[in-house]
Amino acid sequence: MSASPKKCKVGFLWDYSMETFNFGKSHPVRVGRFQMVRDFIEQVELLTAENISILKPEPLSESLLERIHAPEYLDEVRRISRTGEGEIDIDTPGFRGIYENALITTGATVTGVKAILSGEVDHFYSPTGGFHHAKYAWGGGFCVFNDIAAAIYELKSQGFSRVLVLDLDVHHGNGTQEYFYNDPDVMIISFHEDPEWLYPHDGFITDIGSDEGLGLNINMPFPMDSGDAVYRYAFDNLIPSLVEFFEPDFIFLLPGYDAHYRDSMSHLTLTTDIIRYTSKWIHQAAHKWSQGKLGVISGGGYHPEAFLWCAGTVLSVISRTDYQPPSQEPPFEDDDETWNIVKRNVSRVQELVFPILGLEK
Ligand SMILES: [Zn+2]
Ligand SMILES: [Zn+2]
Repeated sequence: MSASPKKCKVGFLWDYSMETFNFGKSHPVRVGRFQMVRDFIEQVELLTAENISILKPEPLSESLLERIHAPEYLDEVRRISRTGEGEIDIDTPGFRGIYENALITTGATVTGVKAILSGEVDHFYSPTGGFHHAKYAWGGGFCVFNDIAAAIYELKSQGFSRVLVLDLDVHHGNGTQEYFYNDPDVMIISFHEDPEWLYPHDGFITDIGSDEGLGLNINMPFPMDSGDAVYRYAFDNLIPSLVEFFEPDFIFLLPGYDAHYRDSMSHLTLTTDIIRYTSKWIHQAAHKWSQGKLGVISGGGYHPEAFLWCAGTVLSVISRTDYQPPSQEPPFEDDDETWNIVKRNVSRVQELVFPILGLEK
């Protein structure tokens, strides 16, 4: 009998300072959500697992901050932070201390990256981050500073040149796409609900990168009501070929909790079964291609119970520990129309991208 595989060391990013934000009482991003995840993983005995430890997030450095955002935007965030007056965007209200809070929540992702590079942990899990709507010039969509861009620039400064971002958040990562659209060192694969009707109304199949980054920006939109079955079909027919081609040396996963059927921010109907499936695949991929280097940035997820089930699921996958959420019944199964649109979209992605990368369909 062979020995069971060694359990990976996982750093869970957490500190009270992450929670010092205030978008207002009616905002979907509620104060207390990170504490809630922390308490939940303690309750289901993940936090006490021998291979899971807490990592304290460090604020983002000035040099990385200046690398990822325009000086005028940073001045405005600092002004809002001092006065408590103004907003980042219509859906992202300002508050006193927003600058310092964003430095911590964004810095958490870079702290996780550094802990992996130093060998302290194999993987990190941040209950925040994934601020993929923030662009160089300005933030928005609940995102102040783009932590993914900051983490990628940190990796590039240390010689990494094949960074994969698998962005399964239900909203397209329009900010991250803009930073790396022509960058040959970064592959971004985004699965999201059709931008025709969902924020940020960007992320079309035809947006495939440019110049040296041509073919490395992959957008796979799903129609409303898409569930686990069509999602798995798209995953199986796109992700393995693309990841095998790219051979990433570092992987970021945004696991897509806001695509869960109980989440009211979108119209996809996923369950934790598919979230387990995709995170398991990418965890194995990290061990195959990136010497295990995998950072999970959990990002969105606005239904409190579903958010916790998803967090428990992904954390248990990457730490090889036991956690089972309750069984879930989405409102309906994928119908013929959904299947037809998803199959057509998958074919279009393959037709547009695969020949550029020299891949067979
Ligand atoms: Zn692992
Ligand atoms: Zn989202």
